[in-house]
Amino acid sequence: MSKEKKDEKKEGKKLSEKLTFSFKHIGRENPEHFKKADKFCEGYKDFLDHAKTERECVSEALRIAKEAGYTEFDPEAEYYPGRRAYYNNRGKALILVNYGEKPLTEGVRFNIAHLDSPRLDLKPFPLYEQDELALFKTHYYGGIKKYQWGTTPLAMHGTVILADGTRVDISIGEKDGEPKFVISDLLIHLAGKQQERPLKEGLRGEELNIIVGSIPYMEEEDLKEPMKLMVLKLLNDRYGMTEEDFLRAEIEFVPAQKAVDIGMDRSMIGAYGQDDRVCVYTALMAAVETEKPEFTTVTVFTDKEEIGSDGNTGMASRMLDHFMEDLCEKSGAKLREVYKHSLCLSSDVNAAYDPTFADVFEKHNASFLNHGPVLTKYTGSRGKSSSNDASAETMARFIRFMEDDGVIWQAGELGKVDEGGGGTIAMFMGNRDVDTVDLGVAVLSMHAPFEVTAKLDVYYTYKAYKAFYK
Ligand code: MN
Ligand code: MN
Repeated sequence: MSKEKKDEKKEGKKLSEKLTFSFKHIGRENPEHFKKADKFCEGYKDFLDHAKTERECVSEALRIAKEAGYTEFDPEAEYYPGRRAYYNNRGKALILVNYGEKPLTEGVRFNIAHLDSPRLDLKPFPLYEQDELALFKTHYYGGIKKYQWGTTPLAMHGTVILADGTRVDISIGEKDGEPKFVISDLLIHLAGKQQERPLKEGLRGEELNIIVGSIPYMEEEDLKEPMKLMVLKLLNDRYGMTEEDFLRAEIEFVPAQKAVDIGMDRSMIGAYGQDDRVCVYTALMAAVETEKPEFTTVTVFTDKEEIGSDGNTGMASRMLDHFMEDLCEKSGAKLREVYKHSLCLSSDVNAAYDPTFADVFEKHNASFLNHGPVLTKYTGSRGKSSSNDASAETMARFIRFMEDDGVIWQAGELGKVDEGGGGTIAMFMGNRDVDTVDLGVAVLSMHAPFEVTAKLDVYYTYKAYKAFYK
């Protein structure tokens, strides 16, 4: 090769460095950050174990917020930078506000994440006895692959309002030594016909029946349903409830499994409910650690996302507008001015590339474990239907936040075009006239009873939120 040609090649390499772009692997780029990520995720795992339902997630986030100096929001209170307040919406959604240096009319920094996860709810009248077993009828909440919920140890969580108005919180199956619950599946020896069903019917909705007891109440003979009565007696002993009280209750069954490390290198976390409590926890930590932000930050943990965000604790409701109106009132800011000048991170998970199911991903636009938070320009299905689709300007601002703070990040779509799809709550903020984009953690086995994330991604998502808030 002549010298001239060699130099040309060097030029090509330089040009390539200048013009091409690829996403970085945090473990390769900043291996020393693994220790920090690992430590951060100890708090995250503990949070997951105490926040298995939307109500528990609000309680746990509120406990942490109160410890960090957040007090109950009072519309009459004076506005001053550094003040922090919380608004608890019915114990199922939570808003945290950190008052900033700039006036509200210059906009606020929203970070919104959802704290509900797919699960099995009890039907309103759930308890029955059949052929000597006591069982609960369920109705699934959110998108699940039903077959995954059979033969998985389950815990019972919920809230019951007794006839006299007393509220009782239920939790069975989380503590060591407590019983758990289970949905049966057919033994392989007799599953010839079942095995020929399509996968989505592996277990059908009406087959998601939870086993709650098998011993009769024996003090009297000729009782009509002694197994059912035994379960009612035990529930009454423990919680003072009767069968009618199921109609005044919200009882949810979730996997009893605790959050654990995954892999020989302990680089990942396996747990139920990481969609979207991974964004709740990272946003919570970022809010708690933001002292006196330039712009007021409003961190919203919302309910109902998994069933479409409708209802008065969901993002499609007026919940946020009412809170924001109260926030604006004292300073005389017009809400529409505030919205128009605000920025919003819609924080939700994305599908991590899975080599075992590579064919549903388009590798150039898929997110990978350990490549940092995923910036998602649009979600939706087919031709971006029901998507917020962030503008170039909005993308530019968020990329700048992250890169100025050395946050390694990546971009990703939810699978191949026309392969499927899904939405987030981004559109509800876009519809409020707020510049919004999605950012969150890549997850393997999303919506399964046991989801997997990478510790470095969790830690870097928290770093991204901090960069956005400061
Ligand atoms: Mn989801
Ligand atoms: Mn989600």
